[in-house]
Amino acid sequence: MLKSVFFLLGLSSSLLGAKTPNILFLFSDDHALRTIGAYPGSINQTPNLDAIAKEGAIFSHSFNVNSICCPSRAAILTGKHSKANGVIGNSSNWNGKQWVYPRELGKAGYQTALIGKWHLKGNPTDEFQHWDILSGKGGQGSYFNPVFLSANGEKRSLGHSTKIITDKTLKWLKERDKKMPFLICAQYKTPHIHRLPPPKFMGQYDQVDFPVPHTFFDNFSTRSSFVSETWMALKGMKGHVLNIAPTEPEIEANPKLMPPFLREMTAPQRAAWHQAYDPRNLKMRELDESGKLNGENRSLYIYQRFIKDYIRCVDGLDDQVGRLLRYLDKAGLKENTIVIYSSDQGFFTGEHGWAEKRWMYEESFKSPLLMRWPGMIKPGTVIDALVQNIDLAPTLLKAAKIEVPVSVHGRALQPILSGKSDPSWRKDILYQYFDGGTPEERGPYNMPRHEGVRDQRYKLISFYEFNEWEFYDLQEDPNELNNLIQSPFMQGQIQRLKQRLTQLKIAYEN
Ligand code: CA
Repeated sequence: MLKSVFFLLGLSSSLLGAKTPNILFLFSDDHALRTIGAYPGSINQTPNLDAIAKEGAIFSHSFNVNSICCPSRAAILTGKHSKANGVIGNSSNWNGKQWVYPRELGKAGYQTALIGKWHLKGNPTDEFQHWDILSGKGGQGSYFNPVFLSANGEKRSLGHSTKIITDKTLKWLKERDKKMPFLICAQYKTPHIHRLPPPKFMGQYDQVDFPVPHTFFDNFSTRSSFVSETWMALKGMKGHVLNIAPTEPEIEANPKLMPPFLREMTAPQRAAWHQAYDPRNLKMRELDESGKLNGENRSLYIYQRFIKDYIRCVDGLDDQVGRLLRYLDKAGLKENTIVIYSSDQGFFTGEHGWAEKRWMYEESFKSPLLMRWPGMIKPGTVIDALVQNIDLAPTLLKAAKIEVPVSVHGRALQPILSGKSDPSWRKDILYQYFDGGTPEERGPYNMPRHEGVRDQRYKLISFYEFNEWEFYDLQEDPNELNNLIQSPFMQGQIQRLKQRLTQLKIAYEN
């Protein structure tokens, strides 16, 4: 039996041929485009992520089908919209028996592995040949000393999760069967809340302030009422999620004061945390006591606390991505390996005063997407076409010369990888968010279900349980501040997109 399996694998790998590309899929959680150096308007430096874009392509219009953690991951694996793959929200169960692209690559002779954050409700079975995933905290895992679950059971690793996921990925790459092509997905927890940067980066940015988004003090004047009522305002953040906690001497005097996240750390990790954060927290108390943290000043202070931790986490990610890229260089794998960087969604980093995702507005609807593919993508390519996370599965299958089933909703990206516009490419995309509630009982974050269509210029959003609509001209109003649903000049476009919404929903139902 085993012999025949090996024979089949050997046969298929030789059928794939020497040029079949390897795939390194780098993935993070909640990564906003404005915190990647390669994206226009970026507020920080990410030299290693930027190198992927510089030596390959950056996608300016890469979107999600449903901007929330579990549905995004399911859409990528299946190449399908949420209703068709069954993961419509974070509480949906994962059906691991359904078609997924990594299993197809495995059947065709690839070695496949997923390391890091899986975050689907139901552990992996045979989607990947090897899996080693963050465990605990509802699949979120810990930043420090995380527990991993594999086919062999649970095991804790010492250190910071960003580095451990990289270490495990490098180990797998070094120990793999070098005769076969590979797919390895390194899926990071960072920069998801509660943001604990690696000790190496904890001390950064005390002397700088990051730019505040233009829409930070949005008054939501043209929007549906529930838009301003969601529970995702930065100004409401407090306590441990901003790394606000008692100081080291205070905890020494009264150990009961130690918050759970510090209990998870080793003594040296805790010492590093206190060294970085105690002075910030003492300074905050001083500002508070002197009355300098009121109203808008408080919101702006919280924004800086939030964004600095966010960027420290991104710095840790970029640092580790650099290790993986250097390994590909050193191992002679660069020329025959597709490197993809993406995140499960984008994130509001202060836009509209928020620190969350879920909405169909640009900051969370978009996902970063960078792709290096020597021989296929020219260095420095910018791709403006509308792409979605469901396109990755067919793209990778096509790269491996495997037929893509017609049931897959996504489209292989190869025709647009030159950066030139392709008249046959899709003109609009569907978004559906199902995690909301009813008009009587709002869903998580006090926000409603919604769906919509976006084309290159316009966006229509339907809050269908409230019978409310929004419409934006993204060319004139890229920050989506001016809802034009009542505009007499826009009624033709609105009717057109309403029809497209109906058509796309039917097309992607199954
Ligand atoms: Ca996420």
